[in-house]
Amino acid sequence: ETHSRNRSALIPILQTVQRDYGEVSQFALQHIADVLGLHAADVYSVATFYQFINTAPKGKFIIRLSRDMSSMMKGAKIVARQLENDLGIKFGETTPDGMFTLEWTSCIGMNYQAPAMMINNEVFSNLTPQRAHLIIEDCLQGFRSHRPTVGKIGETYSSALTYASHEAEAGLRNALAMSPPEVVSEVAASGIRGRGGAGFPTGTKWRLAAAAKGDLKYIVCNADEGEPGTFKDRILLSRFADVVFEGMTIAAYAVGAREGVIYLRAEYTFLKPQLEAALAARRQTGLLGKSILGHDGFDFDIRIHMGAGAYVCGEETALIESLEGRRGHPRNRPPYPIDVGLNGKPTVVNNVETLSSISCILARGAAWFSSIGTERSKGFKLFSVSGDCTRPGVYELPWGITVEGLLETVGGGNAKAVQVGGYSGMLIPASQFDRRLAYEDLGIGGSVIVYGQDRDMLDVAENYFEFFVDESCGQCTPCRDGNVKLLEGIRALRQGKCSSRYLNELISLCETIQVASKCGLGQLSPNILIAINKHFRDEILARPMVGQH
Ligand code: SF4
Repeated sequence: ETHSRNRSALIPILQTVQRDYGEVSQFALQHIADVLGLHAADVYSVATFYQFINTAPKGKFIIRLSRDMSSMMKGAKIVARQLENDLGIKFGETTPDGMFTLEWTSCIGMNYQAPAMMINNEVFSNLTPQRAHLIIEDCLQGFRSHRPTVGKIGETYSSALTYASHEAEAGLRNALAMSPPEVVSEVAASGIRGRGGAGFPTGTKWRLAAAAKGDLKYIVCNADEGEPGTFKDRILLSRFADVVFEGMTIAAYAVGAREGVIYLRAEYTFLKPQLEAALAARRQTGLLGKSILGHDGFDFDIRIHMGAGAYVCGEETALIESLEGRRGHPRNRPPYPIDVGLNGKPTVVNNVETLSSISCILARGAAWFSSIGTERSKGFKLFSVSGDCTRPGVYELPWGITVEGLLETVGGGNAKAVQVGGYSGMLIPASQFDRRLAYEDLGIGGSVIVYGQDRDMLDVAENYFEFFVDESCGQCTPCRDGNVKLLEGIRALRQGKCSSRYLNELISLCETIQVASKCGLGQLSPNILIAINKHFRDEILARPMVGQH
């Protein structure tokens, strides 16, 4: 495979070496550094940042079992024991014959078919101990392919998910009949806000990017769907990729970009061949390339860039660092990517769902879109629902539905609490199920995890902090060390070793981490402990006290 000899090729080169040789050895690191004109320590530092790049030998089959909360609730630990028994190794180890490595991993986007695991790039869902045993036997006999079951869409409210079959490319054709500023105005008039979680108005982002000066501009589709409990973007890319590509093309036309990049998380590598095929088909039919749909002077193409396993790269500036071949460390802002983004050029970073909604808005009009939802939350939203409910899945619903309404829809009526917005979101207790999913109240990225009456909330918190400790990029001390302290504290609480005073000290540490951390990970990771303390403090302190502080 040919890569350019500049720094932005570093991660693709590391991935190619690993694919061909199974690992990136010290020798390979030095050679890559020489070829790219980088210091070996620099290359090593990047390689070791990403979970899916191996700098030490691992097994021919790397088994990564997801330890997101939905998987744990659905029996991941029993599956883990089966794998350990079958292979005769513990997690973190490789079999002596070099065939298998066993690892835990963060959410792989299969929460409603939990438990789930990856073996190399293949995904296996709805695991039971028996099924895990058969899969291991299959590996030993020749590794037959087991594709994951494509996600079943639950309720569909309006058009995003049915748009593709009925109105293909109508949005792009309508956009090209307008001037670029008119397209930006249409998007602004729709009232759509970014669907990745932050909720920034998309029209404003595009207006600023269109006005930014630059000989080259980029559209980056953020498909690094790493927030535990979220899998809607995977469904969109699996079944409606053309709607996403169409949205990227409309964005390019509106802001004057010529290059597009999809940053696809490593866990979704199995989607890459079908996405490449869809892009090739678009090039053949004039939907990508030069003079798109005969529109003179509008040239745009899209490439896929594979992530390498780092949750923090979902943050847009960390994602850009990663695209440029560096560790995924969030940047200080300003400057914002719309002025100084990828390769120093103006860059629009939009989420997969945002871009698919853009296609619908341009097809049906801003007035239609803004007639759905609430005053400050326009349109419909995809929710990834998992956990203790009878109908988990992806649901497309108008903004403004109550938590209670959502739970009725998904069969989660007897819940104790619901986590909305992923691990860094908010825990909503049953007494607040009348709250609305909308920016006026709970403006969320789309993950909903339902916790039934029997769930121990400290179990939940421990699982979350294990994740945050693993995924902190380590740039700032409060996040790097503080989350470790909180995890230790929660484990002590679970063992009934701590007093109410100790719990108060942990909450005080939470507040320090929130104000002193640089990016969303550290600013939001303490949310779960703060919420549990607020809503379930009695339950925590009801544990027998072993020692007093
Ligand atoms: Fe890295 Fe955490 Fe600091 Fe974010 S808050 S920059 S993840 S150390």
